[in-house]
Amino acid sequence: MSRLIDKQLGGLRLLGFSVAGEETVVVAPEYNVCFDVGRAPREVIPIDNVCLTHGHMDHSAGVAYYFSQRGFVGLGPGRVIVHRSLAQPIQKLMDIWSDIEGHPAAGQVHGVDHLEDVEIRRGLVIRPFTVNHSRSSLGYSLIERRHKLKAEFAGKSGPQLVALKSDGVQIEERTEVVLLTCTGDTALGRFLELDFVRQSRALLVECTFYEAEHASRARDGRHLHVDDLPKVLSAVPEAQIMLTHVTHRTDLRLAKRIVQRVLKPADLERVSFLMERPLRAMPIAVPAGPSPN
Ligand SMILES: [Zn+2]
Ligand SMILES: [Zn+2]
Repeated sequence: MSRLIDKQLGGLRLLGFSVAGEETVVVAPEYNVCFDVGRAPREVIPIDNVCLTHGHMDHSAGVAYYFSQRGFVGLGPGRVIVHRSLAQPIQKLMDIWSDIEGHPAAGQVHGVDHLEDVEIRRGLVIRPFTVNHSRSSLGYSLIERRHKLKAEFAGKSGPQLVALKSDGVQIEERTEVVLLTCTGDTALGRFLELDFVRQSRALLVECTFYEAEHASRARDGRHLHVDDLPKVLSAVPEAQIMLTHVTHRTDLRLAKRIVQRVLKPADLERVSFLMERPLRAMPIAVPAGPSPN
């Protein structure tokens, strides 16, 4: 059985696993993208674009195995998208592995910074943005670019539009649909003010700490605490939200009860946990009465 859990979020299929300090990887197979590589489970090998949120081992350990396995099974070189300051160390790691394995590993390490879009395919980009965790941490939004007719030309017939176009009139405008945003590890930060983040239809966001006495640990490690969630939810009013990066010491049922206490009922309906197995994967139910402690 696969370690990864098969989920739907905002109309997207996601395959993921995320336990803080252990492994985080989320694959969006229909879009040929994954967010973090974890320990390189087999589902990430055919994915051509790996977006690494940061260099912590639980998110990035599988990068060399990913490149190596692609060669081994006859796939073309994959691409790892990562903060520019990490591109060189990862390249060095690849070179060392080439020495160890005795043959070069093909693969592209693509360094990016805040708001430097990377084209995944025609009409589909990944947009990195700075988050608030380690120095070289990035979140990523998966954005579809569409062209639509400008409102002022809505009543025109086909031949009229063709004529306008041949006269050099711009009859279309570009719109963006933000399919998914993945924050990676982060505390609250300015990224929640970015328009494209706020327009996301789906949000994968970490929430590592749940107990009141862990608030300072969340702050020190620059992670989100459950008490931060209302701010996150108000920043993304349209998004379906999936929480990641719970520690293995945190009982998921307890975490759910705490989330129920912290969020408004209307918000609870759009929040779920990645690590909840599909059979029980329903939106977090609104509690009927006071929650047990
Ligand atoms: Zn982590
Ligand atoms: Zn981290």
